[in-house]
Amino acid sequence: MANRVGVIGGGQLARMMTVPAINLGLELKVLAETENSSASLATTVVGDYTHLQTVLDFSEGVDVITFDHEHVPLHILEALEKKGKSVQPPSRALAHAQNKLVMRKALARIGAPNPNWRAVSSKEQLEEFIAEFGPEVIVKTPIGGYDGKGVRVVSSASQVSDWLEPSSLSALGGELLAEEKVQFTRELAQLSARNSSGEFKAWPIVETRQKNGVCSEVLAPAPNASKELSLEAIKIAELISSSLEVTGNLAVEMFETTDGRLLVNELAMRPHNSGHFSIEGATTSQFEQHLRAVLDLPLGDTSMDQVAVMVNLLGVSNDKDFVDNYELVMKAFPAAKIHAYGKSPRVGRKLGHITVLDKSIDSALATANQARSAVLGVN
Ligand code: ADP
Repeated sequence: MANRVGVIGGGQLARMMTVPAINLGLELKVLAETENSSASLATTVVGDYTHLQTVLDFSEGVDVITFDHEHVPLHILEALEKKGKSVQPPSRALAHAQNKLVMRKALARIGAPNPNWRAVSSKEQLEEFIAEFGPEVIVKTPIGGYDGKGVRVVSSASQVSDWLEPSSLSALGGELLAEEKVQFTRELAQLSARNSSGEFKAWPIVETRQKNGVCSEVLAPAPNASKELSLEAIKIAELISSSLEVTGNLAVEMFETTDGRLLVNELAMRPHNSGHFSIEGATTSQFEQHLRAVLDLPLGDTSMDQVAVMVNLLGVSNDKDFVDNYELVMKAFPAAKIHAYGKSPRVGRKLGHITVLDKSIDSALATANQARSAVLGVN
């Protein structure tokens, strides 16, 4: 059996794959950016993932290549595929997670629900879109955005004049993505996995809450989600993963609109922050499932026995490590499962997370929030 998985990127997602890799007896090798990466507990090679020969050499010792992030240039993945390497998800699928315009076009083609959108490359085109869908619209850079960077709410094209400068625009691929400003009641995420034999499994839909554009809390399952809404979300995820030939995990970030529709915001093809709850909260965690899926093994059960709340631990100072507060928090919150990513502290940086399982979302959320304040040493 193929059992050697190569992960490009040494962040917390690669780190959290190491535990199920150990449990399943898989070999996990990581191509990390730096010596002290979050994933340095795994067998790590330090190298530049934008350098073709580095990635080719890395791929020699593994059966399958997969990802901790989606920033590996497509031409490098295509070169690996030409040499017969197994890349999961394949470059033709990953392209949709790398570029929001490529994604919008593909979702329109396959009939997945998009907000109103348009590719714009000039002030005039953007003003036209604003006149049609404004007064406020969202403008996004198709590539390179994360955690809300690369997303602006605008009511005039002059608010993105920097992005429309010829040099910036060509670096961004020649076009910007304009979207209607969706009126939503909340943000949801549907996490699923698919292997290359076509087996597909989904976790319950979750609610994600952001602060300053960064995920802060995940409620699993999403409170008060109707059966119809939950089934619709899984149908959308299955349509996307099978039509775009996604392998491994697929996270579909969605808006629940004020009039009860689901619209796709964006896609990730790897373990995702919205799925960290599954480590303790579901029979099979997203990290185990991703490994099973990329190796084309049968997928594990995704059911939950209790509800779960996951809260992110974002750095509150540039020097204090929250590990110092462990003893206190463990004593006060014995049900809180603390995860630390082994990263040096920095304000706003994702340094870890806490998951609490309980009978109700409200009580899990209350405990998780208290444990978070205690571990971060804030009120
Ligand atoms: P990133 O790739 O940086 O995570 P997203 O495309 O997910 O960027 O956008 C970041 C946030 O901006 C979303 O979580 C959502 O709150 C808001 N947003 C994005 N697109 C829209 C939209 N079309 N309408 C309303 N809000 C949006």
